Amino acid sequence: MSVYCGIACRRKSFWCYRLLSTYVTKTRYLFELKEDDDACKQAQQTGAFYLFHTLAPLLQTSAHRYLAPRHSLLELKGLLGKFGQDAQRIEDSVLIGCSEQHEAWFALDLGLDSSSSLSASLQKPEMEAKLKGSFIELRKALFHLDVKDASLLFTAQALLHWHHTHQFCSRSGQPTKKNTAGSKRVCPSNNIIYYPQVAPVVITLVSDGTRCLLVRQSSFPKGMYSALAGFCDIGLS
Ligand SMILES: [Zn+2]
Repeated sequence: MSVYCGIACRRKSFWCYRLLSTYVTKTRYLFELKEDDDACKQAQQTGAFYLFHTLAPLLQTSAHRYLAPRHSLLELKGLLGKFGQDAQRIEDSVLIGCSEQHEAWFALDLGLDSSSSLSASLQKPEMEAKLKGSFIELRKALFHLDVKDASLLFTAQALLHWHHTHQFCSRSGQPTKKNTAGSKRVCPSNNIIYYPQVAPVVITLVSDGTRCLLVRQSSFPKGMYSALAGFCDIGLS
């Protein structure tokens, strides 16, 4: 028995070490891409792109589940051409993660305003037809997505939204410029660097041991309930 236990413990510590080691190498790689624009552009060549339209991700239906399709850089360039959008639009994409094999993942919103012209761009339903999917509000799709996909898409949505709402310097009013990865924006006139904000939240589960209190907003999809949660205000304790 003790021999089996010893083997099990060694195996467990081996997998813990491997998991930690993978996490560290992935984090280092992502940090490099965030700091080095050339390395990030290089990573786009072999990377995969998730598409959004006005912050709703492109999803495809498969056996009552939603899948988030990914496109290569080459496929994306072809699609942008079909949609009447400039390939320069790829510069608006943001880095959202990478695989264990260091395939970088990016997100691009085809619907939000951009420096490139949208006047010749196709409307959303026409894009959906060409993409064989639909742009679906993320909260409504949440329970039909794989956990890893959901986490990645929420990260992408938050980052795309932050860039969309932080395009000007709050000191000089000049347009800010994102780095290739989208991990920061810089004001060229006074070099102020803006980083995506982290908003602290609290979530609480009220329980009497056998039951718990759940709430819902009228905007929630049918059948969706939540524990009590909310954002923390400054100075709140
Ligand atoms: Zn400025």
